[in-house]
Amino acid sequence: MAYTGTPQPLTVLAQGPDAAPPVLPEAHVTGADPLLLSGTVGPARADELDTAFHGVREALAGRRIIDVNSTMNGGGVAEMLHRLQRYSRGAGLDARWFTMRGDPAFFALTKQLHHFLHGADASGPPLDRAGAEHYAAVCEENARALLSAVRPGDVVTLHDPQAAGLVAHLRQAGARVVWRCHVGTDDPNAYTDRAWAFLRPWLETADAYVFSREQYVPGWLAGRRVAVIRPSIDPLSAKNWPLTPSAAAAIVSRVGLRAPADRDGPAVYRRGDGSVGRVRRNSTCLCSASPPPADAPLIVQVSRWDPLKDMAGVLTSFAEAGDSLDGAHLALVGPDVTGVTDDPEGGRVFAECEALWHRLPDQVRARAHLACLPMADSEENAVIVNALQCSAAVVTQKSLAEGFGLTVTEAMWKGRPVVASAVGGIRDQIEDGVHGILLDDPSDGVSFAAQTSSLVGDRCLAGALGAGARCRVRDNFLDDRQLLQQISLYRNVARV
Ligand code: UDP
Repeated sequence: MAYTGTPQPLTVLAQGPDAAPPVLPEAHVTGADPLLLSGTVGPARADELDTAFHGVREALAGRRIIDVNSTMNGGGVAEMLHRLQRYSRGAGLDARWFTMRGDPAFFALTKQLHHFLHGADASGPPLDRAGAEHYAAVCEENARALLSAVRPGDVVTLHDPQAAGLVAHLRQAGARVVWRCHVGTDDPNAYTDRAWAFLRPWLETADAYVFSREQYVPGWLAGRRVAVIRPSIDPLSAKNWPLTPSAAAAIVSRVGLRAPADRDGPAVYRRGDGSVGRVRRNSTCLCSASPPPADAPLIVQVSRWDPLKDMAGVLTSFAEAGDSLDGAHLALVGPDVTGVTDDPEGGRVFAECEALWHRLPDQVRARAHLACLPMADSEENAVIVNALQCSAAVVTQKSLAEGFGLTVTEAMWKGRPVVASAVGGIRDQIEDGVHGILLDDPSDGVSFAAQTSSLVGDRCLAGALGAGARCRVRDNFLDDRQLLQQISLYRNVARV
């Protein structure tokens, strides 16, 4: 991704001098009654949520709640917004979700900020004056397009570095503004300092700030309104709804990650609107000598193609572990690299993994598989991820840094044994040896392979960790809990 460092003309949204002000893309999410969660979380928790929604609806008195991020597909923020919007709308709130537009230079710069907030170095564009001017110009243009949908008193949540530059514009328009940051590190360093030096001037006037962990809150926010809200998953979504083993097997076969078997059912699932969906698309890109046999244990990692997810590290460890993995196959799975518009690194990271895969010895390559999943239909994409997680003997998440790690939560909810790095929000989810296995040093490929192979070979331990994991998620990381915190924040901010 080339970045020239020179400010770009304002062409991201504008369509010509006489064109009407452009409008930002809006996601139209169908509402769902939060009481539907009752069957999973129990009537007491569902009633508490229903009462809280009733209260905030009265307090907002018709004012909107609006979310703004930079993609509708791919990654944890988009995943979460779908459901927060779904239940908020179902509860009668006027909830809207817009996504920003930007050019490659804008997304290269904001990806650089993303890495820096994780405390990681990256080879992106410099955070210099030219970069800041371009960032300002793109944000200003997005703000102009957004303002037609925002009224004074509306509560607007802006997500991550991409949307930080909208804060002042929205405050000026009379909105109440929350900035929510989904990334961070427990050990701030020179990179995090550089990110905050860039972002802080944009963020000063927000009414409140939200982080996924206390450790991520920068010191300069002392005395401001800060909430720590951990992400969560929706047990009723296509991503997490229970699948029968035969449906899961058929769906995994459909995308080329398992050989079909006679006993397989059709590759069907229940869609959010109640209709029956059928997985029709294959993986958009598949590196696989031939599909894993139907009865082979499958080690699965699902992630965006991002260097911090360390897909390449997983592949290397798998190759080095050799026979100790007991005939297991590895599936590294991510989104179609053209499908996540705000992530400029996907193509490069996938290409690096692909090159590594081609260099593997034949007998290892036969057991390692890379797949890019179709993104054209988000429910279809979600159910494929669901089927892969359900079918896994072990799920891994060998991230070098992680804001929270929804893929870990999703696997835990399915009762899968997880081996994951002890970084960021993963540490809030897994107590080592109780809800999964934590890898102290995420760069230690030898330990990673040893922990993974011990779980592949020990069904009893795998079963116990999976059962602990499911309880952990039920008690702490389902959407009703996050929605309650979110509602409390809306009430506080609306009162400002
Ligand atoms: N995901 C997906 N399809 C893919 C790859 C990832 O739906 O091909 C989802 C994954 O299931 C999870 C989210 O993207 O819900 C990733 O969230 P996480 O918090 O793990 O990481 P992030 O991408 O936000 O850094």
